[in-house]
Amino acid sequence: MNKPKFIINRIGAQDRMPTVDTYLTNTILDDISYRILKSTDYDVEWREYRIVGRMIKLIDGNDIHYIALSANGELTARNSQLQSVPTALSQYLAEQKNSKDGKNRKFYFYFLPQHGNNQTDYLKFMYRLMVTTGVIFLNREFGLPHFTPLAFSSVKDLIRSRNDLRSRNSGNKSTYVTDEGTCYHIYGKTFGANQKETSLFCISISAITDKPVKLYQIIDNDSEKISDNDVEAIKIYSTNNSKYSFEIMDDTLEFDDGDSDTVKDKLRSPKFIYNLLSKFDGEKKCVLCGCKIEEVVQAAHIYPIASIRKRSDLTFDRKFELATDGDNGIWLCENHHKLFDRGLIWFEEGKICISDELEDENIVFVKQITTIDTIEPQYINDKMLAYFDLRTGTIPRLAV
Ligand SMILES: [Zn+2]
Repeated sequence: MNKPKFIINRIGAQDRMPTVDTYLTNTILDDISYRILKSTDYDVEWREYRIVGRMIKLIDGNDIHYIALSANGELTARNSQLQSVPTALSQYLAEQKNSKDGKNRKFYFYFLPQHGNNQTDYLKFMYRLMVTTGVIFLNREFGLPHFTPLAFSSVKDLIRSRNDLRSRNSGNKSTYVTDEGTCYHIYGKTFGANQKETSLFCISISAITDKPVKLYQIIDNDSEKISDNDVEAIKIYSTNNSKYSFEIMDDTLEFDDGDSDTVKDKLRSPKFIYNLLSKFDGEKKCVLCGCKIEEVVQAAHIYPIASIRKRSDLTFDRKFELATDGDNGIWLCENHHKLFDRGLIWFEEGKICISDELEDENIVFVKQITTIDTIEPQYINDKMLAYFDLRTGTIPRLAV
């Protein structure tokens, strides 16, 4: 019987990076081998290729162990610790799916020695995403001595935790997940570290979802799509782990936001929802009654799409900018949204006004359901006020 063997690509992932043998010492390989095989008797095959996804393999008879390594040394960028995990996971999933060799494959994460805070709230959240996807931490007590990441039990649990993180302002704001009643929507960016976050979200959500999921890709730095490998990984993972469909929306400019008679409409873009989520800290909540029932809370344009479309003085790009600007929107529940669209309520300086066209008893009703009569001041800005002016047809006091 052959000895277990590490297969390691020796060249750094990028030119400026050190070769892998400079930091992957025998002590570390012993430790990895012992933790997986309870033995330190192994061979190492160093290959003259670039390491991908910071991942090495340990082959033992019929078992192939995939080990994604953490960053080592100084922790710098917010995400550097975990950025390579989705890449490693995609490779593992693709090999698991495509190999016909009958071998058992397992995926692990291993902490290399590092300095700096690897337990920021943001990273803790990301570790939980990893555990949710089924990643095994080989040396958790070494890498995270004071924190045991637990898998998210449901998508609601994940959304709640993500919103908590955001309200403490300790994460970035690149990915949003909303509950649409019959399905979940993920709004994720498509470039660099943001793309990797999007992929990890998708993979872990597909592990726990109780409804179909749609990913809306939000164009980021001219990168229109997440990478083919990541798409492949999401597809494989959701096919294996979920009985619900996972749709990756290709055309980012065609979108039904539930606010339109015409389903396909270039000016109705998921980017508007993304920007609105971003402006309101990821939370869908009616600004006039605080209703948070995701199924009935809708994104309302202040300066309506129909009016923007009619503006012959504007280029399409400019129209698109106005139509997707987070400042040109508020969250409203279905009641308040309809009242707003029919012109039965409107805003002056952020404060609600009720039309006297309504019968007295209906005015009383609107007052009853309006528990918040002014948009919270932290959300009001000059641009938003200008959109309100444009809506009412007055000449905007402020340029947009
Ligand atoms: Zn409301």
